[in-house]
Amino acid sequence: MRSFFVEPAEICKSLAIIGGGDARHIRKVLRLKPGARIQVTDGRGRLGEARVHRIERDHVVVEILKRFTSRPAASRALVVAQALLKDRKMDGLIRALTELGMTTWMPFGSTRSVPQPDHRRLQTRKERWARIAREAVKQCGRRHLPEIRPVGGLGDVIHAAQGFAHKIMFWEAAEALPIKPRGDLAAADSGSVILVVGPEGGFTDLEAETARRADFQLASLGPRILRAETATLAAVSLVQYLFGDWAAPPQQGKVES
Ligand code: SAH
Repeated sequence: MRSFFVEPAEICKSLAIIGGGDARHIRKVLRLKPGARIQVTDGRGRLGEARVHRIERDHVVVEILKRFTSRPAASRALVVAQALLKDRKMDGLIRALTELGMTTWMPFGSTRSVPQPDHRRLQTRKERWARIAREAVKQCGRRHLPEIRPVGGLGDVIHAAQGFAHKIMFWEAAEALPIKPRGDLAAADSGSVILVVGPEGGFTDLEAETARRADFQLASLGPRILRAETATLAAVSLVQYLFGDWAAPPQQGKVES
C-alpha cells in the first residue's frame, strides 16, 4: 500500500491533511478517488492506515482508520557531515544516504568547497533536501526522516560531535587504515557515529589537524583517491557494516530507522 506524509500538526482526531507534492501525486498521477485506501506516516515513527475522504486542488483530506503505532527512532545516530559539493552531487547523496540509514545530514562549507551559496539559496537547498529525503524514506520503507541541519562550518561539525562514540574524518592523506573500532565491538554497536567527508578539492592540512585535535580519527578509504560522493557512500557503508544495523534483513514496513 502506498505511503504518504502528514505533518503531525495536520492531524486532528481521525482526520488528517496531506499537502504539497504528495497531494499533487495523489490527485494528478495516481488519480485516487475518495474511498481509496492508503498508508500515512508522520516521518517520526508513526504509521497508520487511512481512507481518502476529500480531494481538493492543493490538499487531500484523509480519514485515519487504524490508530498510529509509535516506533522509537534508531538509538544510534549516524551523522554525515558533508563538505558542500555541487548541487547535483548533494542531491544524489542525500537520496542514497537516506537509503543507507543516515540519521542526520549536516552539510558544511569548508575551505575548498566550490559552492559558497548565499543565505536565501541555502534555504531553498534545505527545502529541496527535505523533499528528496522524504521521497527516499518512502521508497526504502524507513519510518523516520533524517534530520536536516542548516549549513554551518567545520566548527559547527566539531561542536555537534561532542559526546559521540565515533568521530571519523575521511582524509586521503591519512595514514591510518580503516577505522579502528574503539573499545570492543559489542560496546561500539550502541555508539553514535559522526563522519566527515571533504569537498572535491579535499581538506586542507589545517582542517585535518583541527579535526584531529578535536578527537576525530583521520581514516583512509584505501590507496585510490575517490570522488567525494563515492567516498561518502563508501564511508557510510563501511561504518554501517562496522557499527550499524546491517545485520538485520530488510523487512517491509518494519524498518526501525
Ligand atoms: N584532494 C584530492 C581529492 C579529494 S577527494 C584532490 O584534489 O585530488 C574528496 C574527499 O573524499 C576527500 O576530502 C576525502 O574526505 C574523501 N576521500 C577520497 N578518497 C579518499 C581516500 N582514499 N581516503 C580517505 N578519504 C578519501
